[in-house]
Amino acid sequence: MRKKIVAGNWKMNKNLQEGIELVKEIKALCDADKPNCGVIVCTPFIHLASVTPLVNQDIIGIGAENCADKESGAYTGEVSASMVASTGARYCILGHSERRAYYHETAEILKEKVQLALANNLIPIFCIGEVKEERLANQQNQVVKAQLEGSLFNLSAEDFGKIILAYEPVWAIGTGLTATPEQAEDIHAFIRSLVADKYGKQVADDCTILYGGSCKPSNAKELFAKPDVDGGLIGGASLKAADFKGIIDAWK
Ligand code: PEP
Repeated sequence: MRKKIVAGNWKMNKNLQEGIELVKEIKALCDADKPNCGVIVCTPFIHLASVTPLVNQDIIGIGAENCADKESGAYTGEVSASMVASTGARYCILGHSERRAYYHETAEILKEKVQLALANNLIPIFCIGEVKEERLANQQNQVVKAQLEGSLFNLSAEDFGKIILAYEPVWAIGTGLTATPEQAEDIHAFIRSLVADKYGKQVADDCTILYGGSCKPSNAKELFAKPDVDGGLIGGASLKAADFKGIIDAWK
């Protein structure tokens, strides 16, 4: 059975004290009113070791937003998958469009990161999605297909089964322009069909595919109502505990 999940991506926001406060607030809201879905909070590296002891990760999982494409060594400023895992974090966002665009992360680099994350028992939350020009040219399906083939379809069925996918149309990220539930459903169903072609129906049925891009409490319910939308990866609205909980509550 695939999991329903709401995951937050803080990006480069919140200092250590603010981040600890936010995790405590999310925990208090989830303690008071139990979520009906998996909840994951992905934070900058510096928060991880401080926030993992604050939560029961069977209820609120903690993840990083990135990891290095190398195991260890002379890579100044990088943070390896094994270092992330040593904080107690369980998840790692990989392939976010901001990493692809601003830090030139290619399909090949992401393939390495995915393998290192898995080797260190981190669950990758792997982001795919087209830019505005590609959507206008109706190329979204071929873009996500190439992204899956370029970084994930080398995996065994067993390893692929550990991945959480996040479809994030780049034109919807941080713009207030949300994909319509129909647009989201169309491409989520297409992504699931690609997984079925590659790994078979069971793996595809079990694959969690999140939607990301200006998801908020006011639109989450209609997006999550679509059969192939298994929850959301949330940027801006994950920075306020009440908004994040409002999206979690869309599963109620
Ligand atoms: C994201 O960056 O993963 C994202 C979905 O951002 P936002 O919710 O702010 O559009």
